[in-house]
This record gives sequence, C-alpha cells and structure tokens, in this order.
Amino acid sequence: AVKNALALKETNPDADVYVLFRDMRTYGMREDAYREASKRGVTFIRYTPETRPEVTEGDGGRLRVRVPDPILGTELAIDADIVSLAAAAVPQDDAPRLAQMFQVALGPDGFFKEAHVKLRPVEFATDGVYLCGAAQFPKHLPEVVSQAQGAAGRAVALLTHDTVVASGAVCDVEEKRCISCGQCVEVCAYGAVELGPKGRASVNPVLCKGDGLCNAVCPTGAITVRHFTNEQYEAEIEAAVGAD
Ligand code: SF4
Ligand code: SF4
Repeated sequence: AVKNALALKETNPDADVYVLFRDMRTYGMREDAYREASKRGVTFIRYTPETRPEVTEGDGGRLRVRVPDPILGTELAIDADIVSLAAAAVPQDDAPRLAQMFQVALGPDGFFKEAHVKLRPVEFATDGVYLCGAAQFPKHLPEVVSQAQGAAGRAVALLTHDTVVASGAVCDVEEKRCISCGQCVEVCAYGAVELGPKGRASVNPVLCKGDGLCNAVCPTGAITVRHFTNEQYEAEIEAAVGAD
C-alpha cells in the first residue's frame, strides 16, 4: 500500500492519497518508503477493529469513506474517486489442526510461533519441525526466501547425523502409583505422555522436554523428572539457605 501510494504521488503529485491501516509493517529499510510517502503528503490514518472505516455513496457518484481520526479525535469524511483494498494476510484456517498434528505452538494471532525469536527463529520447540515464511507472520518475499534457506539448513544439519541425542532430563512414571487420571496427558504440550493398554501413563523419552508440567499436576506423585526430583530440589534449597 505504501509503494502504491508513492507510485500515485509520482504520477500525480497533487493527488490526495490516504492510507487507512490497522498495523503498519514497514520495518527495516522499508521505513524509508514510509518516510518518503509521509514527506510527499500521503496521509496515514490508523483505525482499530472497533472503529473500522465505513464506505458509503457520496456526492456526484463518488465514494465517501468515514473513519475516526485518533489524533484529531474526530470523524473524518473523505470523498474518494478510488477506494482500493489492500489484501489482508491472515493465518490459514487449518493452522490449529496442523499445530495439533505436529505438536507445535500457535501465537494468539493464529500464526505459528517459533521456539525463540532470536535464538531459534526457524525452529519450533518440538525437535525436527521447522517454520518459515508467512506461516509465521506476514512478511516480504526476500525475508521468506532467506528464512526458508535457514530452515532447510537446520533440517539438513539434523539429517546428517546418524543418531539423535535426546536430553537426559526426562520424566519417569512409577506405574504402581498411577491412578490413570490422564492429567499428565492433558498438560503435556509435546504429546510425550500417553496412557497404555492398562490405563497407566508412560513417557516417550525422545519427545519429552523435561519441563515438569506433568510432574506438577500428577495427584499421586507418580511422575518424577530425572535429575530434578523433590529430594534434589530440597537438598539444593537447604544448601542455598544453609540449613542443617
Ligand atoms: S497424572 Fe499421574 S496419576 Fe494421573 S495418569 Fe498421569 S501419572 Fe497417572
Ligand atoms: S516433562 Fe513436560 S514434556 Fe516431558 S512428559 Fe512431562 S509435560 Fe511432557
């Protein structure tokens, strides 16, 4: 939309151009285009989901766009020759199904969420699943391509190993204390716990991340995280506070 506004100003510098937007994504070098458009007189007006613009028929066959201006604190009525809608980028409808299938995270906006924005930008917390492109959030093509190369590189690095080393800090279930309540299965975000044929919980150590959520909810204390048992925690606390 910003580039189109600049192109319009290039063609006709006297044209009144308004960009009504929810969220401006001109980060990085694209900020220059935003500044240039502002300098050339393009008017940017932000609206919220509660204050969407309304388009009605105006005078002389023109369209009238009404939108509250948050800076002026009043409603604007813009008589427009042309109203152009920039296509919105929205998350895919089946994103929740894929997230469930691969045990990966979705953000509150419905797009997929990386494991760590700076340290693991093309990976999910679930090992062996990578993300790139507009699945994460709307982005420009060069960024999509470089992120795709990063994700492919991570996948190739994994495939070059003959074996996968899993963390030793995983959960163990003491079967005889398990009452088959299923709470551990519900809280595990990685699909690492399941109830076996006898209804007892069992943990897949390859999938387990050792975050201890199942350990915290288990009503009978049947689950422990290796290297992080209650006794070990108590010993650490006692050592820290200098108890006898
Ligand atoms: S939460 Fe504890 S008792 Fe319930 S199913 Fe899991 S291991 Fe068994
Ligand atoms: S420690 Fe976390 S990842 Fe491992 S089984 Fe329990 S809830 Fe799942």
